[in-house]
Amino acid sequence: MPSLPKQPRKKDNRPRKASGVQSTYNSVWARISTAYRVANPLCELCKHVGKLTDASPGDFKGVTDHIVRVAAGGHPRDAENFMTLCKDCHTRKSIAEGHGFSFEAVGNYGEMVPVSRLQVLDKLKRDVLKIKR
Ligand SMILES: [Zn+2]
Repeated sequence: MPSLPKQPRKKDNRPRKASGVQSTYNSVWARISTAYRVANPLCELCKHVGKLTDASPGDFKGVTDHIVRVAAGGHPRDAENFMTLCKDCHTRKSIAEGHGFSFEAVGNYGEMVPVSRLQVLDKLKRDVLKIKR
């Protein structure tokens, strides 16, 4: 018996459920990120090189950056893995990460461990600030 041609499926416009790294950046993250930058409003890298740059919440002045990227195994919700960065410093750090720059060291048992905040700032100062946008 002949059958009717199949109807094209209706497009599913429901919002997709985020998974993996994308699920980190939701409304909960927005609150955590805002609270962190209210408490730490200056760009930490600019401050490390003697410059005061406002990266407080609002007007897209800056971001709460994950020192070790979540995609690279960094903790998504631990403030020890957060750093306030202005837009410019964040862009430079992201470009560097795109080129394989990382903020981890090999631990005593071969595991990857985050380097200290001061080591991160020194590394950013030495290697990342000279990257042109
Ligand atoms: Zn900065």
